[in-house]
Amino acid sequence: MFKGILKERFFPNAKFFRSLNFRIMVILFLIGTIPALILSVAFLSAYREQSITRLGNDVSNQCQILATQLGSANYLDNPNNETLTGELAQVAMLYDGRILIIDQNFHIMVDTYALEEGRTMLAEEVIRCFKGESTSHYVSGRFIEMTVPITGSGEDKTVNGVILASASTDSLNARFEDLRNFTEIWLAAGSICLLALAVLLSNWLVKPLRHMNKFIGDLVEGALDGDLDIRDCTETENISNTFNSLLAKLRLMEESRQEFVSNVSHELKTPLASMKVLADSLLVQEGAPVELYQEFMQDIAEEIDRENTIISDLLTLVKTDRKVTGLNVEVTDVNAFLEQILKRLRPIAEKENVELVFESNRSVSAEIDVTRLSLAFSNLVENAVKYNHENGWVRVSLDADHKFFYVKVSDSGMGIPQESLDYIFERFYRVDKSHSREIGGTGLGLAITRSAVVAHRGAIRVQSTVGEGTVFTVRIPIRYIT
Ligand code: ADP
Repeated sequence: MFKGILKERFFPNAKFFRSLNFRIMVILFLIGTIPALILSVAFLSAYREQSITRLGNDVSNQCQILATQLGSANYLDNPNNETLTGELAQVAMLYDGRILIIDQNFHIMVDTYALEEGRTMLAEEVIRCFKGESTSHYVSGRFIEMTVPITGSGEDKTVNGVILASASTDSLNARFEDLRNFTEIWLAAGSICLLALAVLLSNWLVKPLRHMNKFIGDLVEGALDGDLDIRDCTETENISNTFNSLLAKLRLMEESRQEFVSNVSHELKTPLASMKVLADSLLVQEGAPVELYQEFMQDIAEEIDRENTIISDLLTLVKTDRKVTGLNVEVTDVNAFLEQILKRLRPIAEKENVELVFESNRSVSAEIDVTRLSLAFSNLVENAVKYNHENGWVRVSLDADHKFFYVKVSDSGMGIPQESLDYIFERFYRVDKSHSREIGGTGLGLAITRSAVVAHRGAIRVQSTVGEGTVFTVRIPIRYIT
């Protein structure tokens, strides 16, 4: 909660910081600035190192020249050589430094600062130089110090003295500072330009998404009229196409929902209208005979039964539709299960004088929801009996392979016209409304059957020839697939 308050307090527009726009902007900015920053730091340090090395080399060369000149002029024995003394001063001045000449007794013979002449110098570098080793070291940010041995002239390599020279790096430092300031200013200016570019680019990149959002918003407000058509780039074009397929599905669902509601109201109103007519006609007839009352009341009772059937079928359908994933699956002996269904329906078949046969090629055991499939197969067999004729037959057969079991319900009935085959599984669809009504059909039976079969990840197929009969084939997986 505390984190939330902080976020609210410091980032009132936190949504922006979570946006793709902001992320792209930051990435572009970092991609531009980080390499520039690394390059400039590397360049500055390389430049500094190179300048110091170059200065060191210059001073060392000058000192070598001086050492040679001092050696050949035998300066250590004859220090009154004005030219060489002047040259020493000149070189020291050139590098804003100081030059000491030290003799074999470690006495300072010449100091261009004229401060320490006559004193003894016992620095380690000087001692090492008397052994013939030149030294050079850089005192960070301040000066370069070096020693060069003065040897005798010609072949004589005895070290008679040492030049101890120091060169200031102040002017070098100042130049380096200037360069650094210059680089920093350019970096800052470059970063500002880059930031502006990143803002423009990120806006441009997320523009198609913004378009899409606006379009979808408009679509929702416009009750899903129109299609999404954002063709800014391949990705948005693909999303548009997928979204339009989804829209088409939604529209179809909405249409079928409306159709379902209007069908339901119509179906529920029909028995009510019949009852109203029956009741009204009794009311207008004064002193109607008891027989008429009985007959009409009988009709009214039948209409009430019908209304009841429709409502319970509807409830079953709604329940099964909602419970697509919630099957109560158990391992079942399918042969016994089908025989049980047929036993229950046999009296109806006998009443209609229809022969009901069960054929099984093998014993099958499968994972099924007994209640739901019992309803599904009962509907198929009941239809086969209902839409049959006197002395007709209904055959129920069971077969299986290693994956599925197959139940075939064939009849010798009236058959279904070819053009109706695509619709018979739809709610309230009936080939012959009045005939179906006469025999107590609601048009919901096959919809319930298909819903149960689909919930088992199975399939249902129908083949029919008018006047000859119909075959429904149901295929259900033996092992329930979640
Ligand atoms: P109903 O309650 O009207 O039987 P169904 O959904 O079970 O509704 O069936 C839809 C329609 O399909 C029926 O009205 C009927 O016209 C047709 N039908 C279903 N089964 C058969 C069949 N075995 N033989 C002929 N027509 C059938």
